[in-house]
Amino acid sequence: MKVGYVYDPIYLKHDTGQHPENAQRLEAIISHLEQAGLMQQLSLIKPRAATIEEISLVHGKQYISYIQDVAKNGGGWLDVDTVMSPGSYDAAVYAAGGLISATEAVMDKEVGSAFALVRPPGHHATATQARGFCLFNNIAIAAKYALSKYRLQRIAIIDFDVHHGNGTQEAFYDDPKVLYVSTHEFPLYPGTGRIEETGSGDGKGATVNIPLPAGSGDAEYLEVFDQIIVPVVRRFSPQLILVSAGYDAHWSDSLAMMEVSVTGFAKMAGIIKGLADGLCGGRLVFTLEGGYPLDALAASVKATFEVLLGNTNIEDPLGQPQRGFKPPDISSLIKAIKGIHNLP
Ligand SMILES: [Zn+2]
Repeated sequence: MKVGYVYDPIYLKHDTGQHPENAQRLEAIISHLEQAGLMQQLSLIKPRAATIEEISLVHGKQYISYIQDVAKNGGGWLDVDTVMSPGSYDAAVYAAGGLISATEAVMDKEVGSAFALVRPPGHHATATQARGFCLFNNIAIAAKYALSKYRLQRIAIIDFDVHHGNGTQEAFYDDPKVLYVSTHEFPLYPGTGRIEETGSGDGKGATVNIPLPAGSGDAEYLEVFDQIIVPVVRRFSPQLILVSAGYDAHWSDSLAMMEVSVTGFAKMAGIIKGLADGLCGGRLVFTLEGGYPLDALAASVKATFEVLLGNTNIEDPLGQPQRGFKPPDISSLIKAIKGIHNLP
């Protein structure tokens, strides 16, 4: 099956200036994929603008108008770390729309799987608040859209960005149709994502948080995939898997203190692809969240595409971290999460 990617230069118009989340991130990814000759193996999915109705599946109409007005008035800072330029509203509307387009392409079988290379990212944005470099919650919008348009009953969202996706968790906290599973460094921004946060009402148990200690690397991540994520997603039996793919757990990323390598990200992508192949006919959509050192980001995204294409030759130009300390022991954390979520 074909592997799709979403990209459009409109995403570069979200001009953040001297900011870790900047347009060079997507430029680095695209040029790396081109240089590697990978573009010819991928199908371009043209993004469309999300409609106001679609964005309001997650966000209040007043909030959407506010974001539009800030852009019209020249941009500015929305909080201490989230900034907008005049082009940011259009970019954000196309970022949400890009993930909708990717989801449509997968659901309509135009491609087998897809990766939306969009910005601004989305998983910190809540119904009424821009946060953590995010304006609209792209993945939450796409999930709500897919539930409604394709009448799905079960979507799994796997979020391996190093930060907890507070906005995504909030959007589905009481919704049994969406399983939200997150690995994240803890404690770290935004401060949510404790193991006791498991959902509420009908959604109780459909939020699975895996807060990992600083210094966790490939071994720890693969352990929690094996022990928690794989069994919990299998038990849920999703009809579609969406992935908040942030690469800021890479060992060279200075926004966090994790030790994951490009090889580790490729292995995680392989496990997720295996879940999609086994559970939902391969229906799998990745979307870009964080990841800031350009070389690590570009290499990690390329490795993810290689895995989606079924290629086994994964390059890791940055190699493994020099771990100058003892890796954290996460066995009691895994045991506690298994207890909370009734896993064997
Ligand atoms: Zn992040």
